[in-house]
Order: sequence, then structure tokens, then C-alpha cells
Amino acid sequence: MFFNYYSPTEITEPVLQLLKRFEGRQYELITIPIKTESFSVPSDCYNNVNKKIQLSKGKIRYGWSVYDNDYFIEAEKHAIWESPDGEYIDISCPNSENINQLLFIMDDVDDGIYVPNIRCNYRKQQAIDDYFMIFEILNVLIIHYGRDSKEIKDLVIFPHELNDGVKTLYSLIADYREYIISGIRNCICGSSILYENCHGSKTVQRTLNYIDEIIKKNNLKKN
Ligand SMILES: [Zn+2]
Repeated sequence: MFFNYYSPTEITEPVLQLLKRFEGRQYELITIPIKTESFSVPSDCYNNVNKKIQLSKGKIRYGWSVYDNDYFIEAEKHAIWESPDGEYIDISCPNSENINQLLFIMDDVDDGIYVPNIRCNYRKQQAIDDYFMIFEILNVLIIHYGRDSKEIKDLVIFPHELNDGVKTLYSLIADYREYIISGIRNCICGSSILYENCHGSKTVQRTLNYIDEIIKKNNLKKN
């Protein structure tokens, strides 16, 4: 099961909470239409927009897509196209079907493709914080090994020593996603004890230690 992502169509309480994370930065909050091009590649907005500019002129504008899923809200680094007439259009594939407009935080900062999402746990569930932490661990590795590559994020190639660790992280992400969607309060391990009193963040901590150990053992540098 996957989260059912949507882009908020109004300024909800979760949107306000997310915008707090952008305090002190310059940005413009806009709602723009999504019109995917036939050549658009998923998760590759920068190249999609550059291709569009070659075909139809206009320019690239940088910012963050806003997605909610009723469990948490997140901002994902993104680029959109500004037409020669000054119209803003998202020409990339949205994170969920049926989304035809996007709430976009336009900051015009080009900080590359390996920028971690900004996530906001407005339900204040510990399992959701732990889910975020697993992504943070994965991001350290993605940023480290993907930094010098022009490949899209999903194609980062890790050294083989890390394969098991990365696999564990991805399966933890899937387990936590299922668990969060299920709404079950008992622990993710299947015990009848509340998550907070049972595994809590122990699973995540153990994985973090495991990855650290591999990095140290193989002399792989962590940023
Ligand atoms: Zn447990």
C-alpha cells in the first residue's frame, strides 16, 4: 500500500506548519497547473524543463512541490517551466495520478537534485518521526554517492558493501509505510504493546548503527 498523495488546494493547517520551516527564506506560494509532456521522465524535472526550453523557449523556475497524504505533509525540491508569456506550468509527472494542479513554493534556488524532502509530522505520531529518520539515513548515503552523478535519484549506485544495508532501509520504509497506513497502535513487531513502549525508534537506531559500522569498516566517507 502507498500513501495517497495530493497537493493541497487551500492553505490548510498542515500547509501553515510546513511553511514555518521556510521562515526567513524568500519564496512565493503559487498554485500551478500540471501538463505532463510526452517526453517527461518521472523524478527528472530538471531535464524535463530543460528539454521544454529547447523546444519552446521560456525558462526554468526552482522551488518545492507540496504534497499531503493525511499522515504528513512534505515539500519536495522541484523545477517548473515558465512560458515565454510568463505562465507557470509543471510539465513533470505528479507523485500520484489524478493530481492536476500543484501547490508550489517558488524560491528560485537551484541547489541540485539531491536535496532531502522537508517533512512535517502534523499528527505527532512517533512511528512517523521514525519513518522520517529512516529517510534521513538513506539521504546521507544518496547525497554521498549521488553527488557527482547526473543520474536521477532513483538510480544512485551504491558500493556493493552497502547493498544489504540499503536493502534493509528500503524494506524498513515499506514496513513503516504499511504500519502507518494501517492505523494500528500496537507495535510494528506484532506485539500487543504500544509502539512507543515497545520498538519505538529502536529498529531505526539499530539500522543506523549497522550502516555506520559498514561505512567505518569499508572506510567509506560519510558527509
Ligand atoms: Zn515492538
